[in-house]
Amino acid sequence: MQRPYNFSAGPAAIPEEVLQRAAAEMLDWQGSGMGVMEMSHRGKEFLSIYEAAEAGFRSLLSIPPEFKILFMQGGGLAENAIVPLNLSRAAGVDFVVTGSWSQKSQKEARKYASEVNIAASGETSSFTTLPDPASWTPSVGASYLHICSNETINGVEFHELPDLRALGCDAPLVVDFSSHVASRPVDWSRVGLAFGGAQKNIGPAGLTIVVVREDLIGQALPACPSAFDYRLVADNHSMYNTPPTWGIYMAGLTFDWLARQTEGEAHGIAAMEQRNIAKAALLYGTIDGSQLYYNKVSPPCRSRMNVPFFLRNEALNDAFLAGARERGLLQLKGHKSVGGMRASIYNAMPLAGVQALVDYLHDFEKAHG
Ligand SMILES: *Cc1c(COP(=O)(O)O)cnc(C)c1O
Repeated sequence: MQRPYNFSAGPAAIPEEVLQRAAAEMLDWQGSGMGVMEMSHRGKEFLSIYEAAEAGFRSLLSIPPEFKILFMQGGGLAENAIVPLNLSRAAGVDFVVTGSWSQKSQKEARKYASEVNIAASGETSSFTTLPDPASWTPSVGASYLHICSNETINGVEFHELPDLRALGCDAPLVVDFSSHVASRPVDWSRVGLAFGGAQKNIGPAGLTIVVVREDLIGQALPACPSAFDYRLVADNHSMYNTPPTWGIYMAGLTFDWLARQTEGEAHGIAAMEQRNIAKAALLYGTIDGSQLYYNKVSPPCRSRMNVPFFLRNEALNDAFLAGARERGLLQLKGHKSVGGMRASIYNAMPLAGVQALVDYLHDFEKAHG
């Protein structure tokens, strides 16, 4: 029996192989007599799971040794507070606002940083383009500059991280990569800190991954909760308090799956990137070539992960969604703040799933266009 294709923006589809392995190990992890959810986080069984997940992520994304990998909780939204609590040093911070998520992030930072400067904003284009880094106006002496490298709701993505030093800006770059982490390689030489919730591209909700350059931590504001102090979390190998053990286990299985992916000569993340480029090209090409559907985002800024699109005749929206469900194409309804449709095509979505969606787009347009 084939499972439906799930286009949810998050929590999102998980590779079937990962779910099957977790199911097989649910009651008894590798002869231990315990399921992973029932294990002490300090026992040797879970420690081996933790170490494999951390090493798997480091190797997959080629994370250099000067970066710490932290497994935390609270999701992307909690990091909107945890980052300024740890890195702002009560000084000013800069934001580039490119959509709903970076907008939320800068609002939250105002609670903790003495000043929030908007170094650039895509608002004048209703977030259908990304402001060119050459036009950004970072402030002098800011503690960091924050971007959201993939805006899940608006469907815009930085296909290259900005090089702040080349812009004459010394501040470390903070990146919210929640919704495209592990979809492509990361140039760590441009990054101070990157964070992401797991539920889009890595595993179940409840785990947040933070990758932070070690020299940036250790100066948290006095009000920072201890469980969210990066120094304490790092020094305790993410076990200052009980970590999200199930999420870490599932993430480890996903990293393992990712490392085994191939496309031609490419392996792991490079293979994933190629596949994601092909998936996005197929879907955007179909939307652009149709009379019924359209996408508002400027082509060079389009997200490879989240594809919002609209029907020119909005009266057909309900019929479109019902027909999609009948074909086993699930969760295509757009975010309530933008309406229309959204297809999230994260790593776990195979090219065949995008092909099934494209076939449906054609058939529905033929029937109703
Ligand atoms: C989903 C998402 C978040 C919020 O994550 P939570 O786990 O709900 O806190 C933050 N940033 C981006 C870019 C997201 O896609």
